[in-house]
Amino acid sequence: MPKFIGCGATFDDAEVVLFGVPYDATSTYRKGSRLAPTAIRKESVGIETYSPYVDRDLGDVRVCDAGDVKVPPLGLLPAAMVYSVEEQTQKILDAGKFPLMLGGEHLVTLGAFKAVHKKYPDVCVIHFDAHTDLRDDWEGERLNHSTVIRRCFELTGKGRIFQFGIRSGERGEFEWAKANTHLCKHNFASLGDAIKQIGKRPVYFTIDLDVLDPSEMGGTGTPEAGGVAFLELLGATQEIFGTLNVVGCDINELSPPYDVNGASTALACKYLREVLLFVNR
Ligand code: MN
Ligand code: MN
Repeated sequence: MPKFIGCGATFDDAEVVLFGVPYDATSTYRKGSRLAPTAIRKESVGIETYSPYVDRDLGDVRVCDAGDVKVPPLGLLPAAMVYSVEEQTQKILDAGKFPLMLGGEHLVTLGAFKAVHKKYPDVCVIHFDAHTDLRDDWEGERLNHSTVIRRCFELTGKGRIFQFGIRSGERGEFEWAKANTHLCKHNFASLGDAIKQIGKRPVYFTIDLDVLDPSEMGGTGTPEAGGVAFLELLGATQEIFGTLNVVGCDINELSPPYDVNGASTALACKYLREVLLFVNR
């Protein structure tokens, strides 16, 4: 399997370990995100390793692309996938390295977050998404990409989840969020407040790429009009890494079959490069 461009370090030498989770079994609308880790790696030859935004190059950092998590034989079962992701993330954290996960659908976050929460019990979550992902269940199933942040909440408790760019969900989810999370509709307007409230606590950062406007990110399972622009996303991301103690991160929900002109995958490659260069070492 090809590696992401510029990510040739061995596991032992790496500061950051990148891994994929080719899983989309619980996607509620259009599947295809299981193909994203491979598509992102393949298409990464089309971008530069150098970032003119931060004047750094992937050659300056030590990143290991560890390939994909093996989704077990009965891996269509969400619990088995979550467990595999948790194990892989814990291995990276135990080695003192930064885990950077590529979905897959958004449920992959639960596995990584479980491992991060075990190591950092006071961890906060920053969640970029068009969707609240706060349902308690999806047609009776508690492990679903539309319930993932609710499951994370069960680990963190009230007031430790900060959501941005949100513009879709049930009325009940928005009501529930008022009492339990910090939810910023449509954009990143309250990011500065969130950064102050989080302070020195560790942060897990999860980015559902459908937070972007479909004009820039059409290649996703549940596109939602009215999203943020790439440069806004990049600016907010840089602010988070520049001011907070981010201890783990994932980028999810690219769906290559819906990326009709390749632009969404190219965007995901560029965004991943920037995130790899932002990670504090
Ligand atoms: Mn999501
Ligand atoms: Mn979403």
